[in-house]
Amino acid sequence: MTVTADYHSHTTYSHGKGSIADNALAAKEKGLDYLAITDHAVRHPFIGVNPKKLDEIRADMDRVQQEFPDVKLMLGLEANILGSAGEIDVKPQDAEKLDILLAGYHLTSFPYRFADYFKITFNALTKYVMKSTKAQIARNTSMFVRAIKNHKIDVLTHPGFRLDIDYSEVGKVCADYGTYVELSSRHRTPDENSIEQLLNTDCQFVLNSDAHKPQNVGCCDFALELVGKYDIPASRLANVDHKVLTLRSKS
Ligand SMILES: [Zn+2]
Ligand SMILES: [Zn+2]
Repeated sequence: MTVTADYHSHTTYSHGKGSIADNALAAKEKGLDYLAITDHAVRHPFIGVNPKKLDEIRADMDRVQQEFPDVKLMLGLEANILGSAGEIDVKPQDAEKLDILLAGYHLTSFPYRFADYFKITFNALTKYVMKSTKAQIARNTSMFVRAIKNHKIDVLTHPGFRLDIDYSEVGKVCADYGTYVELSSRHRTPDENSIEQLLNTDCQFVLNSDAHKPQNVGCCDFALELVGKYDIPASRLANVDHKVLTLRSKS
């Protein structure tokens, strides 16, 4: 089983270390068919991509694409899931400019509504010292479920990073709506307690590097470890052995 696409990488357009060309070269050297450039969306403080820049990034990508015809480049963003109503910071008219839309929860991206600081952000800040309560897990889960139902998200990034969720419920809604669940080598999520709950649903997975440096593009070691340890069949993995992703955002 070989990973032949990486749908999650960052560049200097947010806080990655390399350019689109640097990531494309790394993808070529790893023999990837596809590479998505998915910098953080606008509500990521200081580094998020202003949607007004999308045309410029697309033009840059088109130039790089000519240099690397063997690797199909895709323009994406990693949206922030922002609050209990499942809001994300990529508007539909901006999502139309993208080839792929990722979304995940990041502690540093502040919610739109003040009440969510106490509900969501507080839990994310304290999760590693205070066990999440059932009410907190239910609230986090509801936020993820609403985000997936309300927005055409192709890939849910690093579920379980920063916030505890009910994986059975999130896996089921991802399966129902056609959103892939990421096996994240950067954040080492989902963890071993969660993967079995996800495997009991019908969700599909994508193995991603979430590379912030060119040398990490295509590096999916942790994801492959999970695949081996839990014997996840290739039929549930979207980006191995030259398969092509089915994009919900383009349907
Ligand atoms: Zn992320
Ligand atoms: Zn990322």
